[in-house]
Amino acid sequence: TSQARQRLVIGNWKMNGSLADNVELLEALRAGADVSADVAVCVPFPYLAQAQALLETSKVSWGAQDVSVHASGAYTGEVSTAMLSDFNCRWVLVGHSERRSYHGESSELVAQKAQAALQAGLVPVVCIGETLQEQEAGETADVIAAQLKPVLALGPQAVAKMVIAYEPVWAIGTGRTATPEQAQEVHALIRAALRELGAEQVQVLYGGSVKAANAASLFAMPDIDGALVGGASLVAEEFLRIAAA
Ligand code: PGA
Repeated sequence: TSQARQRLVIGNWKMNGSLADNVELLEALRAGADVSADVAVCVPFPYLAQAQALLETSKVSWGAQDVSVHASGAYTGEVSTAMLSDFNCRWVLVGHSERRSYHGESSELVAQKAQAALQAGLVPVVCIGETLQEQEAGETADVIAAQLKPVLALGPQAVAKMVIAYEPVWAIGTGRTATPEQAQEVHALIRAALRELGAEQVQVLYGGSVKAANAASLFAMPDIDGALVGGASLVAEEFLRIAAA
């Protein structure tokens, strides 16, 4: 008996794009995003100004793919929450599996990033998910609980302003999407943890090889509120079909 949660579809461009190529993609999104879902793109830092300029007067919002926990200072290569706010970002991904695995980001650091984002008025999209090895060992529920723990410890008021993205690592970029039932099973666990905390209305997105062809069946699941889309977000027509699914 939950209230309807708003559908949300976020594109994660990862390290793709160029100033020249982005124009066509962003203009197509601006023209085509007249759907009932909220639509957003998380672009590489150098393209935030371009995303802002081309999307400002559209229904599409934008954000970044990572952020520093530090406010300013001697942190070479880092980007602060205030810098993201300078470009009117609404969203920032934190704890994407590629950050966790290639950059050693811990769940504690991810929670700190989420908190820093909230303090700056950004919406953190907290990414969690188990690896293939963990899934095969039957550890999915434990991994999800452990990744969520420091985030949920921020308390119900903070968590209520976040978005959670469940992305099984074995489904990311592999073409091997979780079945709707498989995804729903984990989303139900996440929902139960949110309910226990008193933040049941948080949007929980699914990510991992989402395409136009599988989006509708995923979105039909009771605890799947939208998608975090990698590869398919680089093709405007495909991404918009997912948003309209
Ligand atoms: P994919 O990536 O849609 O290309 O599988 C999803 C993600 O990593 O956010």
